Amino acid sequence: MRIVIVGAGPTGTTLALLLAKRGIAVTLIEAAKDFHRVFRGEALMPSGLDALEQMGLSRLLADIPHRQLDAWEFIFGEKLLFRVDEPMGASQPCTLLPQPPLLEALICEAQTNKGFQFIQGVAIKDLRWSNQRVAGVVLSDGREFAADLVIGADGRNSLVRQRIGLELVRQPKNIDILWFKLAASPKFASDNVFRTILNGDRVFSIFHAAESGKLHLGWVMSANEKTDSKQANWAEIFASLSPSWLAEHFRNHADTIESPIRLSVIVGYCPRWHAPGVLLLGDAAHPMSPVRAQGINLALRDVIVAANHLVPLFQTEAQCQEIDMALSQIQAERQPEIIRAQQLQLKEATQGELLRKNPLVRSLLIQLAPLLGKIIQKSWLNRQYQMRQGITQVHLTV
Ligand SMILES: Cc1cc2nc3c(=O)[nH]c(=O)nc-3n(C[C@H](O)[C@H](O)[C@H](O)COP(=O)(O)OP(=O)(O)OC[C@H]3O[C@@H](n4cnc5c(N)ncnc54)[C@H](O)[C@@H]3O)c2cc1C
Repeated sequence: MRIVIVGAGPTGTTLALLLAKRGIAVTLIEAAKDFHRVFRGEALMPSGLDALEQMGLSRLLADIPHRQLDAWEFIFGEKLLFRVDEPMGASQPCTLLPQPPLLEALICEAQTNKGFQFIQGVAIKDLRWSNQRVAGVVLSDGREFAADLVIGADGRNSLVRQRIGLELVRQPKNIDILWFKLAASPKFASDNVFRTILNGDRVFSIFHAAESGKLHLGWVMSANEKTDSKQANWAEIFASLSPSWLAEHFRNHADTIESPIRLSVIVGYCPRWHAPGVLLLGDAAHPMSPVRAQGINLALRDVIVAANHLVPLFQTEAQCQEIDMALSQIQAERQPEIIRAQQLQLKEATQGELLRKNPLVRSLLIQLAPLLGKIIQKSWLNRQYQMRQGITQVHLTV
């Protein structure tokens, strides 16, 4: 029996590895020629780090350069509203881990298992059917692979989801993000704070990424906003919104600001993640907002639940009917956490947008900040617990 997984992002690679290690034949198919696509999220929350540990993969961190966050700060109108230090009661702090070396290490390890096959640089273009059940995939180069189960781990624009006709209910599209990189200074290395800066109707976040000596900056824009990102004097724009020490950094390192990439933010939820012979996981089933870095963490937890159900079935060569029944159990187990996490992300994004778009609320907040800072901090912290530690219990049992 064979499982075909479409997409070698965090969902596809970790699931392929877990299955292959347990003696299940897996074919993993990835469209991109390598893992160095322009942008891949890299923040892992304690829940994601715990998932890697349960999978026996924490040791990979020893060989991959990564960076821990020290704190989160919110700066309104150039004044600090509040700061919260990591790890906020968790056993480990939020950690920035670059995806390309992680994915490469996972594939290397999977390749030591006999039944594992990795096809890279070819997209799937269609599904194969047999008796009204999905029975494999067709690649863009014409090759076909038969499968007892196809897993769509092919991200937010999932072709598997489209071919099977599973609906994605999208949240209204509000924002895009312009993603910049620029040089850091030693200050950022010694106290790596994820800063969110709101000034006037502008908001951006800045932190020292896993890559040594590089700051990442996410500039929030309305989805319909046009910008000539090549012409703008970004150093001056960022400096004009920042406290003086940071403004000085932008001006001194203006020539290191790289041309940004525009990342479109899609958030949604599939009411149904499965059909006979096929299951969607990760962003294919529930594309996540970047707010408080949930996507990779939730994807890793999807993988644990899927492995718990699928491994016993494939190890005992179960019937198709039993496999299809397990697919709905996987969704049922994951659904509460995903829906809650998306609600919490939406709440945080809505509050941010209210402040960004409403000058009255903004000026009230700035005036009352000395009085309200502690209350706002407490309410923010309450919301973070679930987004950092996970909402339901997820334990790898196979
Ligand atoms: C701006 C932004 C910042 C983010 N930052 C973070 C963060 O810091 N931390 C975090 O946890 N989450 C973050 N996220 C969310 C996170 O990126 C996703 O939730 C996560 O990558 C989902 O993993 P995945 O494996 O399901 O999908 P993906 O990572 O999208 O992987 C899907 C893979 O499938 C491949 N593929 C697609 N179509 C085909 C096909 N037809 N055939 C074969 N292969 C195919 C793709 O090439 C890709 O490699 C961010 C999102 C955005 C938009």
